[in-house]
Amino acid sequence: MLGLMQDRPLLISDLIEHAQRHHGDVEIVSRRVEGDIHRTTYREAAGRARQLANALDGLGVGQGERVASLAWNGYRHFEMYFGVSGSGRVLHTVNPRLIPEQIVWIVNHAEDRVLCFDMTFWPIVKAIHDQCPTVKRWVALCDDAHLAQLTAAGGIPNLVSYEALIGAQPSTYAWPVLDENSASSMCYTSGTTGHPKAALYSHKSTILHAYAAALPDVMCLSARDSVLPVVPMFHVNAWGIPYSACAVGCKLVFPGAALDGKSVFELLDTEGVTFAAGVPTVWQMLLTHMAQNGLKLPKLGRTVIGGSACPPAMIDAFRLEHGVDVLHAWGMTEMSPLGTLCTLKNKHLDLPEAEQMKIRLKQGRSIFGVDMKVVGPDGQELPWDGKSAGDLLVRGPWIIRDYYRGEGAPPLVDGWFPTGDVATIDADGFMQITDRSKDVIKSGGEWISSIDVENIAMAHPAVLMAACVGMHHPKWDERPIVVVVKKPGAEVTREALLAFYEGKIAKWQVPDDVVFVDAIPLGATGKMQKVKLREQLAGYRLPGL
Ligand code: AMP
Repeated sequence: MLGLMQDRPLLISDLIEHAQRHHGDVEIVSRRVEGDIHRTTYREAAGRARQLANALDGLGVGQGERVASLAWNGYRHFEMYFGVSGSGRVLHTVNPRLIPEQIVWIVNHAEDRVLCFDMTFWPIVKAIHDQCPTVKRWVALCDDAHLAQLTAAGGIPNLVSYEALIGAQPSTYAWPVLDENSASSMCYTSGTTGHPKAALYSHKSTILHAYAAALPDVMCLSARDSVLPVVPMFHVNAWGIPYSACAVGCKLVFPGAALDGKSVFELLDTEGVTFAAGVPTVWQMLLTHMAQNGLKLPKLGRTVIGGSACPPAMIDAFRLEHGVDVLHAWGMTEMSPLGTLCTLKNKHLDLPEAEQMKIRLKQGRSIFGVDMKVVGPDGQELPWDGKSAGDLLVRGPWIIRDYYRGEGAPPLVDGWFPTGDVATIDADGFMQITDRSKDVIKSGGEWISSIDVENIAMAHPAVLMAACVGMHHPKWDERPIVVVVKKPGAEVTREALLAFYEGKIAKWQVPDDVVFVDAIPLGATGKMQKVKLREQLAGYRLPGL
């Protein structure tokens, strides 16, 4: 017997319609690449999203065809999220931090029809436009006056400003009633090896993820929040925040291109931000700026930190010095991206701070909708004892079943997606990543977690960034070393840092050496690039060898 409930598809257009109807006057604030702070509302954004949908009809962009963005977090990018997907096209958010050759490859692979770019990325567009034959229109996310300045030294064919494109269009639009399984947006994975592969999200997966992300034990988003996603809208849809924001009606604050500590602090402060989300590297810049200038953020209640392991020193700095709760999160491009969030359970609330900290450091509990397990080398599931580390597999309605155009080997193993992460799960269901499978250090047959080694170094007051890598060793197979960037003006010697490890991990897990460098290579999404780092260390030899 079938249920007797209405069969309304889950569609992205309904999100922006809901936001307009129920939270129409709520502000969307953006730091623009034009240099100013821009203010709009959900009502205006909804109207402009409909104008964009009309404009795409006018350009003849077909259903399911791709419209790309090369843009920072801002209100025009936000409008694209709804105008493009809501009207049945697929929003392809391109990561502008990729090298131009990769951008060309991705745009051609996705067969983008239109590409909208922030003015900052004009040099990239100029360099690549004649290598992207599928792109019929290039749209500068600005008005005609700014476009004229931009192209003073020469333009490119088929170029138009966003404001001119949508300006004359009506702000009414009959959103199509799509199959909820239709593709809505796509995002290519960072692709440390081989060509990037795209996750292709659907309306249904996006809406389910939007509900889940707003849950109290996830991001706990509400109409009382002012939310600043530092996490880019070009990287897994800013962790789905633009969608959840429409569902709950929170104020949105977009930082644009200025992600330095000072600029982010200013927005957090002046816009009364209560909730912010980002990767550790950005928070490190903010904390350093606040420490150097004795600043506080009384309204900021919580931050979600994910994308890389959050160092304990960062959790301490936010919690103990600023009273900001830190929620550790884990996810992947292939997972829309949220998989787990770390919030304590009722039974943990009376634990001493140090005991709570041990839990907070874990990547967290699975969000309802994400099923997970860890398996050993034989594929057998390992116990949830917080000790048995194995390959982490996940399944659920917002996790990919295949890559766009079937690129790469079929990813699923018996219906589960292998994440490539190595993890433990404890009896309460808290998952902890110990490594990417390719980063695990194997010493004398035992595993050493590079994350543990990095976290200890990061707790040293002179250390800005630390990366642990395994170096070949004739006897032990591999031994860890830690590569360190010092904080500006701070000092620490190799010996002092190695002594700092004493009593914090087993002796055999203490790195064999410290290598000081000026910078650690970061990938397009702010993660440390260990493959590149290893290349830089090509001539390195472990002490005593
Ligand atoms: P991406 O698809 O670029 O978002 O990268 C996903 C990968 O980032 C995951 O498979 C993890 O290896 C890593 N990652 C994400 N969040 C965390 C976290 N909180 N701790 C450790 N690694 C993380």
